[in-house]
Amino acid sequence: MATREEARQKREEKLDELHEKLTGAVERLVTGEDWADALRFAARFRSRSFNNVLLIWEQHQAAFEQGRVPEPFPTYVAGYKQWQQLGRQVEKGQPGYQILAPVTGRFASANPSDPASWYGLNRGEKPKPGEVVRSRMVGVRPAYVWDVSQTAGEPIPEPPSPVLLAGDAPDGLWDGLAQQVRAAGYELMRVPHEGMIHGANGLTDFEAKTVAVRENMDPAAQVKTLAHELAHVLMHDPDQEDARQHRGIGEVEAESVALMIGAAHGMDTTGYTIPYVAGWAANVDGKEPVEVVKATGERVRKTAAGILDQLDTAQVPDGTPPGLDRDAPRPARSKDRTAATVAEPEHSRAPEPARARGL
Ligand SMILES: [Zn+2]
Repeated sequence: MATREEARQKREEKLDELHEKLTGAVERLVTGEDWADALRFAARFRSRSFNNVLLIWEQHQAAFEQGRVPEPFPTYVAGYKQWQQLGRQVEKGQPGYQILAPVTGRFASANPSDPASWYGLNRGEKPKPGEVVRSRMVGVRPAYVWDVSQTAGEPIPEPPSPVLLAGDAPDGLWDGLAQQVRAAGYELMRVPHEGMIHGANGLTDFEAKTVAVRENMDPAAQVKTLAHELAHVLMHDPDQEDARQHRGIGEVEAESVALMIGAAHGMDTTGYTIPYVAGWAANVDGKEPVEVVKATGERVRKTAAGILDQLDTAQVPDGTPPGLDRDAPRPARSKDRTAATVAEPEHSRAPEPARARGL
């Protein structure tokens, strides 16, 4: 008969194995075609100068206030002809945003180290043999750009996005998680819709000590969100010493814990978890998404084991959700999203606005 210690060890192995599979699934997603298409599209938009970003934001906000664009933040921004090259057309009656486009000139020199030797080339003029040519900005001219929401046409390639879970919640799981939220000193609230929590599915407020989950989703999605928020409560209180960290890492951790809690109850969260974790992991500067996920393994396992320990629900011995198997189909893509957001905010500290980018 297995002792308690053996049982614990077995579960830890199971959780480690789950985490490895999650890491593998994230890797497959971020190396897949949809992901690559989205990156290639984004790469066609280069960063603009700080001044132009401000100009775009200001004019986009004004357009939003006048009801001409649906979202307050600009995402992909490009010139009229550039949108046409991407298979999209600026819609009638949409005025562009005026920015200052750099004007460059070409200069040539036979002796580059001598500043006095450089002279300007006219349009089409060729340098003399042996001369070096360089381009330099010589001024600015007004130009017009449009946000993607002012255009119509070919769909924007996007990374796969999280799909809300459907169906029932495992028996007793909501109550068990709710108890742990309250035991940590937080009040648990159910709100009618996402409009009350900044468009998120759930919200942990470390100052007010409240956790909110929206009720207008299926019970399975609600209970997964509660597990995600409980992980934030246990791991990310800014007053705890080891809790302050990059937002993206915090989201990867909380959602990975939710996957483990779900898996232990035979609930497959992968359609939501994998794109969500991949999206946030890809947003940690200077690190590969897979490395980000890998590095959280130990903390995630400990937190998940701690939560599972305190639940008196019926847990399945082999909790690998089918979506984590290598041959399983990839999560479905939702069709109604605009580009450049990473993932739905599962909870909300306010999501970072997408940066204005332009061709
Ligand atoms: Zn979160």
